[in-house]
Amino acid sequence: MSEFPVVMPTYGRADVAFERGEGAYLWSTDGRRYLDFGSGVAVTALGHAHPRLVAALQAQAAKLWHTSNLYRVPGQERVARKLVESTFADTVFFCNSGAEAMECTIKTVRKYQYETGHPERWRIICVTGAFHGRTLATLAAGGQEKHLKGFGPAVEGFDHVPYGNLNALRAAIGPETAGILVEPVQGEGGILPAAPEYLRGLRAAADEFGLLLAFDEVQTGIGRTGRLFAHQHAGVTPDVMAAAKGLGGGFPVGACLATAKAAVGMTAGAHGSTFGGNPLAMAAAEAVLEVVTGAGFLDGVAEAAGRLRAGLDRLAAAHSTVVEEVRGLGLMLGLRCRGVANAAVQARLLSAGLLTVAAGDNVVRLLPPLIVGEAEIGEALAILDRTLAEVAP
Ligand SMILES: *Cc1c(COP(=O)(O)O)cnc(C)c1O
Repeated sequence: MSEFPVVMPTYGRADVAFERGEGAYLWSTDGRRYLDFGSGVAVTALGHAHPRLVAALQAQAAKLWHTSNLYRVPGQERVARKLVESTFADTVFFCNSGAEAMECTIKTVRKYQYETGHPERWRIICVTGAFHGRTLATLAAGGQEKHLKGFGPAVEGFDHVPYGNLNALRAAIGPETAGILVEPVQGEGGILPAAPEYLRGLRAAADEFGLLLAFDEVQTGIGRTGRLFAHQHAGVTPDVMAAAKGLGGGFPVGACLATAKAAVGMTAGAHGSTFGGNPLAMAAAEAVLEVVTGAGFLDGVAEAAGRLRAGLDRLAAAHSTVVEEVRGLGLMLGLRCRGVANAAVQARLLSAGLLTVAAGDNVVRLLPPLIVGEAEIGEALAILDRTLAEVAP
């Protein structure tokens, strides 16, 4: 055997492993308790071992795991109906990850133009700082040199303009443009919420030029920002949208939501996935959606978000030498660091028992589970307060 790590070393991992979780807490294999304000990168939306999710998955596990999409999957029909009833969408494709949800989104945009008499329109306007996944097409849509380098020519068909700039976007629309793709709040890029006017301007430009508007809500969706989907704050709707991370509460599942108009070409044979929407994934997603769309749940998220945000604003003022800014929406918040690397702050927070996630633009991301309570927010703020004092120059 070679010395090469048996797990392909594509991640810079912290040297800690977890064996158990409950709510907002995780316990490491060496018995330490951590407060989880990373949620596995916005995935464990209901925290760890939520009784409703555990029961749903256990019940399904004892009945049926997988049948393939050669047959009807009743769980898909139920989850799709729930998503359709709660959003702009008329129809849903199920897959297993955010990147796959984005692949379906991209294919839906291109196929729409092809089917409606514009096969020449296949390019998509994206924005700088975006992140859409790690497949070849989604890397090209993200357009980040650091992710694309070394992997050969980027997949064709993605044009980039500065995020938030409507004039640049409108100027980039050409005869080959099929659609526009943005994250309503950039996640990996550094927790950057789009202005509501910007999202409305994208909708207007898409309508004016016959383009489809696509949102990547893989990170922002499923209640993360205090609404079921972040674009609902701005009062605009896309034609196509990708969701994933929080949707299965930790079980891998992704979804591409579309209007009937946009999905005109997504007929039998146009797209597929062996595992996509299998009964286990649908049991998890159905339980998550029941909880998140339940009476008062999103109001609770907004209330927790307000409390965390107010606390972070106080900390930013008290530690202004290391915190330049607090930004974000709902429970998707970022501390932009100055004079110290975000990775160093994140590592110190980990040592102090608080899990966070680094993002671009020197930001430390706080993505607590949506069920986070007042006491846990207080505990996180206390750890942040001590740690920010320690890292100050
Ligand atoms: C995480 C993420 C993706 C990719 O999701 P994977 O499940 O890792 O493929 C795509 N878009 C956004 C906005 C994300 O945050």
